[in-house]
Formats: sequence, C-alpha cells, structure tokens
Amino acid sequence: MTFELNNGLVAPSEAAGKWEQIAWRIGVEVAGPAADDVDRLARFPAEAVEAIRSEMLLSALLPEQLGGGGASLVDLVAAVRALATHCASSALVLAMHSIEVYNIARHGSTDALRSLARDISANGLLLANANSEVGVGGDVGRSICALDNTGTPWTLEKQALAISYGENADVILTTARRDPDAAETDQVFIATRRGDFDLEPTSEWDTLGLRGTCSRSFRLTVRVDPELIFPVAFSTIANDGSGQARQLLLSAVWVGLAEAAAAKAHAYVRAAARRSVGSTPPSAMRLAEIAADLEAGRSLLVAQALRFGWLESGSDLENAGFTIALRNLKVTTSTLGTRTATAALGICGISGYKRDSEFSLDRIIRDAHGGLIMVSNDRYLADNAQLLLARKQL
Ligand SMILES: Cc1cc2nc3c(=O)[nH]c(=O)nc-3n(C[C@H](O)[C@H](O)[C@H](O)COP(=O)(O)OP(=O)(O)OC[C@H]3O[C@@H](n4cnc5c(N)ncnc54)[C@H](O)[C@@H]3O)c2cc1C
Repeated sequence: MTFELNNGLVAPSEAAGKWEQIAWRIGVEVAGPAADDVDRLARFPAEAVEAIRSEMLLSALLPEQLGGGGASLVDLVAAVRALATHCASSALVLAMHSIEVYNIARHGSTDALRSLARDISANGLLLANANSEVGVGGDVGRSICALDNTGTPWTLEKQALAISYGENADVILTTARRDPDAAETDQVFIATRRGDFDLEPTSEWDTLGLRGTCSRSFRLTVRVDPELIFPVAFSTIANDGSGQARQLLLSAVWVGLAEAAAAKAHAYVRAAARRSVGSTPPSAMRLAEIAADLEAGRSLLVAQALRFGWLESGSDLENAGFTIALRNLKVTTSTLGTRTATAALGICGISGYKRDSEFSLDRIIRDAHGGLIMVSNDRYLADNAQLLLARKQL
C-alpha cells in the first residue's frame, strides 16, 4: 500500500509506478499532441492506441503465464488516470478495453477463452463491449436480445446502444439472454472475434465530448462460437469483479480530467504570479480550493482501488458496502470533473474560454460532461437510495 501511495496515485504529476509511467509518457509524447485533432474530427485515437499496444499495456492485466504483464487493477487505474490528463478519449479506450481483459483473466477459464487471452498478449488485440442495448439503456443486467442456439451456427443479433471503437476492435464482448425463452436477467456473456461479427452502424458519433471513443450505435450480428461463451452467468461476472473494475477504471478517467483542468489553472496562476512578483494573485485562492477538492477525489479513488485489492484477494468483492462506495466514487469523480473544469475556467478567464490558447479548457469541459451520463448518476443514486434503506449503517 505504501508503495502505491508513494508511487503516483497520490502525486500523479510525479508518476512513478511502472505502468503509470508508461501511460504518462504515451500521454505526453503521443496522445496529448493528437488529442485536439482526435476531438475535432471525432476520430479513433489510432496513434495513442498503437503506442498503448507497443508498450504492452493492452495485455498488462493478464497474468504472466498467459503472456501478460501481471499488473494489478490498481496499476491500471493509475495508468488510465495518467493518460486521461492528456487525452480522455485515449484513456477511455484503455479503460474500456481493460475492463474486458479483467473479465477474461478472472472468469474466462475455458480453453478457448484462455487461448484468446494468449492471443491478446501475443498480438495486442483490442477488446470492445456491446452490453448496453436499445430499450434497456445502461441497465446492463437485462437483455432483450437472445442467443439463438436452435440452428448451426449459433447466432446473435443485438441493437447495440453504443459500441465504443467497435469498428477498430478485434474482439467484441456482449451480453444476451441465454436462449430465446430465457428471462431478461438470465444472461450469458459472449466473446466474438473479428470475422465472426458484423457491425451495421445505426447512428453517427457526433457528440459534445469524448469524441474519440467513436461510440456509435450498431446492429451487431454474431456467428457465435459456443467455446467463447463464458462458463459462468453474466450476473456472476458483473457482481464478482467486472462491475467493480468498471467503476474504478472509468472513475480514473474522470479524476484524470479534473487533474488536466486543475493543471491549466495552476499554470495560469503561476504565470500571473510571475508577472506580479511580491503579491499573490487573487485567483490563487480559487486554485487552493480546486486543489483541496481534487485531493479529496484522488484520495477516494486510491482508497477504493486499494479496497478492491483487499476484497479481491479475500474473495469478497460482492460486498454491499463496497457496491455503494463504488457508485459514490463514480458520482463524486464525474461531478468533480465538471466542477473542476468550470472552476478552472473561472481562473483562466478569457484565456481558458478561447479555443486557440494554451490555457483553453474547451475540450476538457466538454469531455468532463461525458462522465455525468456514462452511466447516468441518477441511476446510481437511485440504486444506492434503495440499498441504503435496507442497511443499518451508511
Ligand atoms: C462515451 C460513451 C461511451 C460508451 N461506450 C459504450 C460501450 O462501449 N458499450 C456499451 O455497451 N455502452 C456504452 N455506452 C453506453 C453507456 O454504457 C450507457 O448505456 C449510456 O450512457 C446510457 O446509460 P443511462 O443508464 O444513463 O441512460 P438510460 O438508461 O438511457 O437513461 C436515460 C436517463 O433516464 C434516467 N434514469 C434511467 N434510469 C434511472 C433510474 N433507475 N433512476 C433514476 N433515473 C434514471 C437518467 O436521467 C438517465 O440519464 C457509452 C456511453 C458513452 C456516453
């Protein structure tokens, strides 16, 4: 624990953990310089993902015996946060891919899924997800679509609400009802390789922010390989690791975005101080407020990431208190992102408002708002409100 606290998560601009350092360097050298172009064109951050691939970050979470890097989830949380301070879209690609790698490492115990894991390590395959569905939105514990196992090959057709970077993915993981007669909540989790799936776009991705994730809606059709169906129900995968990893990795993006905004404000105040030696710029007070807010958000992320490690090693991830805490983490960090970005704009003033200034907050402010809706904070607060009624302690 001391190692993690001393190595980057608490003092991110001094990234020191191995994977965090790699991600920071990719952010500085590749993802950051391309971020405005990615945003303007709403294009896939190909150069950042190539750097992520060549630095073996795509397989970092896999154990060494499967050819992976043997990194912990805490390592990846730190790496995603570091990358998000330079390009939130690139960081989201790494985060969403890593959720699926975690699922395969934890629950993909069949020979075919183990073989897929080795392939991810050897060839740097990129994994995408198609869980959300038109008609159920972000309530991914339910599916309308069903695995059709009545003919050969088995097939699946899904109206996917959003598949981030679907057109660039080598593998898509998706939920479906177990068979055409199964209940909405009786879901299996299926991996499908390029060549076995077709994507027909049903929307564009011309959004306010997070434009580089290219999260279009698609009609997804799959020729299902029965060997690539996870051996446990999706509810087990979601409750035992996947849901928790998702909250942590995505929250790392929102914290990284808050740090990016705070860094602009910090640089602006220091520049103002250099112009008026001997007096403290009035905006320094606002910066101190941002720093306190940011510290609280970072600490929450660190605390829950470390708690994840303890509960995971004790096989106690399905813990109601932790579930509530992770929903709180998502709500807190996503609102931290927008709050810090707005406060930084107040400090940088017209320099932050201009799109061609070194202090521009344009992309950061727009990206940060994506955190509020991916998935809706109201959905999480409503779920927590229900759980808290049944619990004696907060
Ligand atoms: C950048 C981005 C990338 C994405 N990438 C992917 C991807 O790769 N794969 C994928 O499967 N999905 C993806 N999604 C979709 C995402 O996972 C959610 O499905 C989507 O954001 C809608 O979730 P929602 O629950 O907020 O919205 P909906 O379910 O559509 O809800 C709409 C609104 O209703 C309200 N609401 C809904 N339920 C409740 C409730 N229980 N209590 C109170 N209010 C409620 C909320 O205000 C909510 O905003 C992506 C979304 C974004 C923004």
